[in-house]
Amino acid sequence: MVGLQSFAARGLHSGVVGVLGLLLALVPLLAAADDTVKLRLRWVPQFQFAGYYMALEKGFYREAGLDVQIIPSAPELSGPIDYVLTGQAEFGIANSGLVRERAAGKPVVALAAIGQHAPAVWLVRGDSGIQSLHDLVGKRLMSIPSGLSESIELFAPFVLEGIDLDKLTLLPTSYDLKSLVNGETDALNAYITNEPFVLLKQNVDFRVIRPRSYGVDFYSDILFTTEAYVAQHPERVKAFREASLKGWRYALTHVDESIDVLLDKYVTDRSREHLQFEADSLRELIDPDVIAVGHMNPGRWQHIAQLHQKMGLIKGPLDWQRFLYQPEAAGAKPVDYRLLLSVLALALLAGVIAFWYRHLNARLRHEIIERTKMEQQLRQLATTDWLSGLNNRGHFFARASDEFERANRYIRPLGLMLLDIDWFKQVNDRYGHQVGDAAIQAIGEVFNVVLRHSDIAGRVGGEEFAVLLPETEPEVAAQVAERIREAVAQCEITTSQAEPCRITISIGLTAFASSDDVFDQMYSRADKALYAAKANGRDQIQLSL
Ligand code: GH3
Ligand code: MG
Ligand code: MG
Repeated sequence: MVGLQSFAARGLHSGVVGVLGLLLALVPLLAAADDTVKLRLRWVPQFQFAGYYMALEKGFYREAGLDVQIIPSAPELSGPIDYVLTGQAEFGIANSGLVRERAAGKPVVALAAIGQHAPAVWLVRGDSGIQSLHDLVGKRLMSIPSGLSESIELFAPFVLEGIDLDKLTLLPTSYDLKSLVNGETDALNAYITNEPFVLLKQNVDFRVIRPRSYGVDFYSDILFTTEAYVAQHPERVKAFREASLKGWRYALTHVDESIDVLLDKYVTDRSREHLQFEADSLRELIDPDVIAVGHMNPGRWQHIAQLHQKMGLIKGPLDWQRFLYQPEAAGAKPVDYRLLLSVLALALLAGVIAFWYRHLNARLRHEIIERTKMEQQLRQLATTDWLSGLNNRGHFFARASDEFERANRYIRPLGLMLLDIDWFKQVNDRYGHQVGDAAIQAIGEVFNVVLRHSDIAGRVGGEEFAVLLPETEPEVAAQVAERIREAVAQCEITTSQAEPCRITISIGLTAFASSDDVFDQMYSRADKALYAAKANGRDQIQLSL
């Protein structure tokens, strides 16, 4: 059994090592290691992006399993929409022009609108006498070169007011407030969150003309991604959006701390005061006390798209379903292949382990059965006489001694007979050894028929046998001996000659006597009785008590 245990232990060991190996191989798959994503801003670091920087700073992205890199605008980089569409970043920030790009066939998806209102305004000098949009007709307006499409919220009010855009005198922007201050232009395209601060600091009197006052109310700073990315990584998109909005809620309730972080790590060209001004004016645009940060209303998007259509910037219908992010649908529909793969791999692993255990179990059971059989065979070989099927001499004496001890201790009757085939040499000489062997087998069969199960028979010599009869009085033992003698005499052993071989047997019989100390004493008495039977003419029983 030692071999069997070590076999099992070896199997178990190699199995455990194999399973551990498989599990280790699965770890990178299961552990959903940090997903690296890039966020492309639409301008340089300032409070306009504080929510994202605070989501990074406070570990909201990390908690969501995301490793986020924020990329500010730089002259050498393409615009955020192209940047994201070409796969250089997963997320970007854009203005309401995003809807125009969607209409033009670019597969962008709006995730959240941070600015509920757009910051773009016209700035005019306080002493210019310009009070309204209508006063700008015939005046010089400085806006970014691609003004109409990039700052559509600044020009849409003219259209709504029925003012022909051709009547406006547009100048390319100098990107410098001085142009307004020193009269190079009458109006300047500006951000309500930025330029007014500089004018206030310089004590320049100015006036603001807001598109909102003319019914043009656009979203701004829209977080977006691509349709493909939403399809491939719905969970990541959901997590990024939620962590970003959490960052925004944090930034808007911890303005000083957010400014500290911006100044410490990101902003190089602005004072604390400037950032504070930006935070205050941005708060009005985000309106967090009334509207959930990031909220998008399809109706407002429709209004934005309609204005684009009116300006000839959008032609044809828009697929709103695909443009506006739907967190529930995005979370439910696409399959997370990695999760699916992990589950499949685990199921496979469990199957392999179960199969392996079953296989090992079956092998062990088979091995145990085989070994038990072999042991039984060996035990039988060691105790049985191969020719007669009776106990061999050694085993007979071992069992006989036990029975003798029992009879001796409890003073129980015990009979013993020794039997020897008569003239056996002649049987061999006349018919050959094979017939002699068959005669010995015939004696075994006679014992099988005549003896009880509790009797112990053995072949103790060439053609000599012994039978022990526990719990048997001498008279009964004599009857058993007689039945054996008669049965042997009846036997006909087939020979190669015409007539069968017949044999007789002589039997010496004795019984346990209280004077017997060891089995040998009984045995030699029986032997003497056998000798007497031989001497008395054979084929008979002699009793010696
Ligand atoms: P008796 O006992 O009647 O005096 O005469 P016997 O011829 O049987 O005498 P003995 O006991 O001297 O002879 C025993 C013979 O039994 C010797 C041997 O050739 C034969 N013999 C012993 N074992 C075997 C055996 O396994 N197979 C066969 N065929 N013969 C055996
Ligand atoms: Mg003999
Ligand atoms: Mg003999």
